[in-house]
Amino acid sequence: MKKQRNTVQKRIIFGALERADHPTATELYDGLHAENPRISRATVFRVLSQYAENGEIRRIHLQGTDERYDATMSPHAHMRCVVCGRISDVFLPGLEDILCAKRVDGCEVYSAEVDFTGMCKECVALRYKGVQKAAAADAKNAD
Ligand SMILES: [Zn+2]
Ligand SMILES: [Zn+2]
Repeated sequence: MKKQRNTVQKRIIFGALERADHPTATELYDGLHAENPRISRATVFRVLSQYAENGEIRRIHLQGTDERYDATMSPHAHMRCVVCGRISDVFLPGLEDILCAKRVDGCEVYSAEVDFTGMCKECVALRYKGVQKAAAADAKNAD
């Protein structure tokens, strides 16, 4: 019985991770706890660690943030937006060769991460709109 409950909780945690956007364990727990008050913080942390150790999910370490989790296993990089903090997946040709390299310069490779820092599409679009607005205001003032 206990085992079965654990399985159900594991499935709920995995499903939440798939829907979330590279959450930290705490973020995932906060989101889950609202709907499933019986899931404890310790369970969320333990299940995420187990999944990561089994290679079913990825642990990602991005500069300037806590450890995060990712259910997307296909080789990809991450872009962290310095404006809104969003972390998005980046798929680029050639990335797979780097991320899946088993040997580099005679060394054995166990894991690789490629991170970009910059501005996400939404923030770029907002900035562009802001620039247009400012330009329109300037044009009006010039009249
Ligand atoms: Zn952004
Ligand atoms: Zn990702």
